[in-house]
Amino acid sequence: MKKRVFSGARPTGRQHLGNYLGAIQNYVDLQVDYDCIYCIVDIHALTTLEDTGSLQKNIHEMMLDWLAAGLDPQKSILFVQSHVPEVMQLHTLLSMVTPLGWLLRVPTFKEKVKLQPQNVNYGLVGYPVLMTADIVLYKAEAVPVGEDQLPHLELAREITRRFNNIFGYTFPEPGAKLTSFPLILGLDGKEKMSKQLGNDIELALSPEETLERVMTAVTDPARRYRNDPGHPEICNIYRLHGYFTPSQVDDIAEQCRSARIGCVDCKQLLAKGINSALGPFRERRAALSNKSEYVTDVLADGAHRAQAIARETLREVKQNMGLL
Ligand code: SF4
Repeated sequence: MKKRVFSGARPTGRQHLGNYLGAIQNYVDLQVDYDCIYCIVDIHALTTLEDTGSLQKNIHEMMLDWLAAGLDPQKSILFVQSHVPEVMQLHTLLSMVTPLGWLLRVPTFKEKVKLQPQNVNYGLVGYPVLMTADIVLYKAEAVPVGEDQLPHLELAREITRRFNNIFGYTFPEPGAKLTSFPLILGLDGKEKMSKQLGNDIELALSPEETLERVMTAVTDPARRYRNDPGHPEICNIYRLHGYFTPSQVDDIAEQCRSARIGCVDCKQLLAKGINSALGPFRERRAALSNKSEYVTDVLADGAHRAQAIARETLREVKQNMGLL
């Protein structure tokens, strides 16, 4: 029996290089050794999203990218959180064993309160409870997290422990599958690559669009003229070369420092590397998007399989809580 892994991601639409290098590649790799459940968490998105007009399109585009990148519906369960409504019942039941104080002290809740003081909704406070429900509903034993996300998982483990203590062993405590998620900076070279910040490069862009985006990137600010020597160690284009033209990074660093390569040429080289690495992904994406209803069918099948597990767990939860 393989261990079961659960991970969820918000429906952010077409995915970018940061998503790919930071999470999707890892999702794909985990399929070899784990029984994986990957979920697009649309209910979580509602805690900060007021305009839901693009939600369905975002879910569709995101799943298309996941599938084209190698997530395989034969190996993993791929579904949308709200398509298995049992999670909302479990959220309510887990909320009965979760002290409010635990939730109010969560740093991300405090940050959100500052960020959206006009919309401090109940969902924001209950976010960790819903996250716990996401994981334990499928009795996942491992959750891929970076070091920085360990406190969130610890809260999920505390809630699980408390439930098990009060109502008897029901859920395995979800453990961390510690993973290094490389921080990919955006085209501004300062902030994490993000669609919201507009500093991203989408995977599904055409080669021409990719080149256009790369050409807008900030490089070494001290290198004002072509003949100025550069400092590759502070340049994000150079960092990205590490992923897309790894065999040439030493040469590029040396040529940059001696001003033998200009930033325009260096960016063109990077765009070429990105386009070559993403070529197979883009071909698969185009083929999948021509199959009408494919994404819908994958998600329906995923929800069906996830729901079979969820119903069984929820029945056990209700029995242990004395509700049946
Ligand atoms: S040559 Fe390349 S590595 Fe050097 S500063 Fe320009 S873009 Fe960055």
